[in-house]
Amino acid sequence: MDYTAVIGLEVHTQLSTESKIFCSCSAGFGAEVNANTCPVCLGMPGMLPVLNKEVVSRGIKLGLAVGSSIARTSIFARKNYFYPDLPKGYQISQYELPICEGGGLEITLSDGSRKRIALTRIHMEEDAGKLIHGQNLGHPDSSYVDLNRTGVPLLEIVSEPELRSSEEAKLYLEKLKTILEYLGVSDCNMEEGSLRCDANVSVMPKGSDTFGTRAEVKNMNSFRYLQKAIDYEIERQIALIEEGGVVVQESRLYNPDRNVTISMRSKEEAHDYRYFPDPDLVTLEVSDEWVEDVRNSLPELPDAKRTRFMERYSLPLYDADVLTKSRDVADYFEEALKTGGAPKTISNWIMGDILRIINERSLTPAQCPITPVMLGELVSLIENKTISGKIAKTVMEEMEKSGKNPKAIVEEKGLVQITDSSAIETEVDKIIDCNPGQVAAYKGGKEQLIGWFVGQVMKATRGKANPGVVNELLKEKLDKA
Ligand code: ADP
Ligand code: MG
Ligand code: ZN
Repeated sequence: MDYTAVIGLEVHTQLSTESKIFCSCSAGFGAEVNANTCPVCLGMPGMLPVLNKEVVSRGIKLGLAVGSSIARTSIFARKNYFYPDLPKGYQISQYELPICEGGGLEITLSDGSRKRIALTRIHMEEDAGKLIHGQNLGHPDSSYVDLNRTGVPLLEIVSEPELRSSEEAKLYLEKLKTILEYLGVSDCNMEEGSLRCDANVSVMPKGSDTFGTRAEVKNMNSFRYLQKAIDYEIERQIALIEEGGVVVQESRLYNPDRNVTISMRSKEEAHDYRYFPDPDLVTLEVSDEWVEDVRNSLPELPDAKRTRFMERYSLPLYDADVLTKSRDVADYFEEALKTGGAPKTISNWIMGDILRIINERSLTPAQCPITPVMLGELVSLIENKTISGKIAKTVMEEMEKSGKNPKAIVEEKGLVQITDSSAIETEVDKIIDCNPGQVAAYKGGKEQLIGWFVGQVMKATRGKANPGVVNELLKEKLDKA
């Protein structure tokens, strides 16, 4: 039997606010253990939480960006459970009346078609602390608690079960990450856990409209693991059903070393958490003015930017897509354009060398040793025929190494292209005179030898001859030879 997979994601993103959600401790990453704590986030009895306004603004911002409706009244609730990284014994979250409901985002599938994935809700909550297990510290019998992360603000973004493959799930998470980065609400650093997600996965017979029972794979923080975990889970459930078994609703953990998911615990139900409105926090009222203020602060969003790049710079969809995936890359592109080079040529260089350099060296576009102005100048040098495209590659390497600007490199190394046809003619004549055998073969019909002749002239001029001129002269002279 054929099966259809059904997937819904719950994404947690840490907000890059200065302070935590309910106290004034730093929400920064990487401080000494337990340095960013106070009686509020340590859960001392009698301490009162005070809501960080910026967290609400960022929740509204994301909601507006994805077309959610923003609740004018929303409520914080206590989600009760015990775990050593949760000193209060409950997490402050939102249950009924979250800050945002509805909305959606669009993904581009590999065949170029678009698919809209609806969102259920977005709510605000606090992160829990971190347990550090002693195995790696030489104390296998101990575990340690670091509460720096306790109270760091989170937005949880819940999708409807509309994803149908691990590929779609990856595209969805990528798009969400892009939007979060554009908005500047989170740094989305997946290694540091600022973007992580749970994948709910079920399967049903193809054509059925009744969803199967879902298993939830918890807490993944890489695109690769997300895809692998979902693929494993789909296969596991299908095999189980084919054997006559049933899928049980449970939480599972993905083990990347073995590429399997493992049962963690039977799935808790909402009522297990004894949610109730937190009596320490008043109902959150959001005014229309607040929403409008946030709306006015929205940047141009990725889809709009992509359309504008295609219309204004006549870029193909593929280029516009790659360039707008990151706001910083898009800014780099538009900065480079100011030097006057052709958009498509600049786009090619960014999609090739620039992205390679920043990825290889884990740099942001702004840290790239080749600035947008340098790239723009390089492209101008090609366009005004000072250098050939081939020499430009050499200049690019040199820019990467030395950080010098392209004009200086071209002058220093004497790379100016020879367009003067008399200088090229001398070389062409020499090559023809010295290679009577090749000339005869060419004239005898081996026309592809033209490439060899061009190569010889380029070699003799150390790549500096204008290839167009070389080609023209060679054809002319060989025909007469
Ligand atoms: P919980 O917190 O209990 O996991 P939520 O309602 O917050 O519940 O999230 C449920 C997630 O599971 C949503 O992303 C939803 O789209 C997804 N989901 C619900 N039913 C199914 C199903 N049958 N198969 C796959 N995913 C599902
Ligand atoms: Mg869940
Ligand atoms: Zn604190």
